Amino acid sequence: MPVSGLAPYDEGNIFARILRGEIPARKVLEDDFALAFHDIAPQAPVHVLVIPKGPYVSVADFSRKASPAEISGFWHAVAETARKLGLEDAGFRVLTNMGHDAGQEVPHFHVHIFGGQPLGPMLA
Ligand code: 5GP
Repeated sequence: MPVSGLAPYDEGNIFARILRGEIPARKVLEDDFALAFHDIAPQAPVHVLVIPKGPYVSVADFSRKASPAEISGFWHAVAETARKLGLEDAGFRVLTNMGHDAGQEVPHFHVHIFGGQPLGPMLA
């Protein structure tokens, strides 16, 4: 079921559990600000999720509440993840879903990185 991107943060959400090490994930990168790991149900040859370490529900929540250091650290981690995956030359797509209409399933802000093939006009 899609979630509300404006709901209060739920410490029990699946990505919070991955951050706490309670659930395994195939990690690509981890630093002070972010964790990147492979999506469990990939929609492209490369499909990785990048999440901030702080408790933010959605892109709007993150953009309003995170500190400048968290915001720049997060986007640095997105770029570094794409570089580590070898996607920078061919290109890649970054996407985030917020709230019900976008189909956000996990109420911890995340961006999807898609790559590894020509992606066409859109990937949901
Ligand atoms: P959303 O629809 O919220 O933008 O995307 C959530 C993404 O998280 C989906 O692509 C889904 O496959 C992925 N996902 C859900 N549960 C897990 C999990 O336990 N582990 C990993 N690695 N990915 C997950």
